[in-house]
Amino acid sequence: MTLIDGNKIAADIIAELTAEVAQIQGRKPCLALVRVGDDPASVSYVTKKEKTSEQIGITGKVILPPVTISQNELFALIDQLNADPAVDGILVQSPMPKQIDEVAVFRRIAPQKDVDGLGTMNLGKVAQDDETGFVSCTPAGIMELLARSGVDLKGKHVVVVGRSLLVGKPVALLALQKKAGANGTVTVCHSQTANLPEITRQADVLIAAIGRAEFVKADMVKQGAVVIDVGINRVADASKRSGYRLVGDVQFSGVAPKCSQITPVPGGVGPMTVAMLMKNTVKAYRLAQSH
Ligand code: NAP
Repeated sequence: MTLIDGNKIAADIIAELTAEVAQIQGRKPCLALVRVGDDPASVSYVTKKEKTSEQIGITGKVILPPVTISQNELFALIDQLNADPAVDGILVQSPMPKQIDEVAVFRRIAPQKDVDGLGTMNLGKVAQDDETGFVSCTPAGIMELLARSGVDLKGKHVVVVGRSLLVGKPVALLALQKKAGANGTVTVCHSQTANLPEITRQADVLIAAIGRAEFVKADMVKQGAVVIDVGINRVADASKRSGYRLVGDVQFSGVAPKCSQITPVPGGVGPMTVAMLMKNTVKAYRLAQSH
């Protein structure tokens, strides 16, 4: 079994981007990060994104509207950022508070600044195998992890568990694309899927994006499969100073011995999400400069 080291692969991408941004004369790429409220996971994700952009030389701003912000006020903020020529990329961190319609927020971001790739235009481009858009960061990170680990999906049965807008659906579309590295035969499962273990056991490549701690057990995985664990779940652990530890959607100790390759949690998909956001921001900058 080989561990897919997301930290190392993400660090390689960050080093490539740092070298690229260092070459840019004049105004550097700029990323606006918007975090509404104090959800602890969101705080930690936005902090990580901010630090990584600083490391690369991407300039940025973190905007922290009050948790009570209305939909229209948030739209007005996004409109301002859309119109600001100094801002190349905009990310509004989810989860957002209850009064906010997240999908409407994703749609409000100008497609050319939608570096999280969750707006209608950019998701549509994924469906059209059109590479001019932005692929949402976690699915893009999964594809990059597979490519850099030598996993070609051509002819493989790829089973995705989860159909969210954020992960499951776009990664299924990417695995299905008619292009090098993809060309998978894709099955997408969700909470209403019958006989789930029977399906996951057929997977050459199993992508778990469920949001349930250690849901995928050894008897759900085929010998020799590649397993990508997208889940980030906090489980109580009194022995930790924080009072919790992070586990994936895969029961790692049981599943890992059966796999040819597997991602750990933490240190698998998570760092790749941040790296791909940075890559998309540099791409948005390049597109803006070319107009
Ligand atoms: P989500 O929106 O809650 O979607 C979860 C999906 O799993 C849904 O499609 C749901 O089915 C399905 N599901 C739930 N219970 C199931 C069951 N018993 N059997 C089969 N399918 C089931 O979550 P998400 O945003 O996709 O995130 C998934 C996980 O990835 C979470 O742990 C999240 O924290 C993590 N995540 C990690 C990163 C990263 O950077 N590593 C980024 C994003 C998310 P229904 O559609 O039928 O409800």
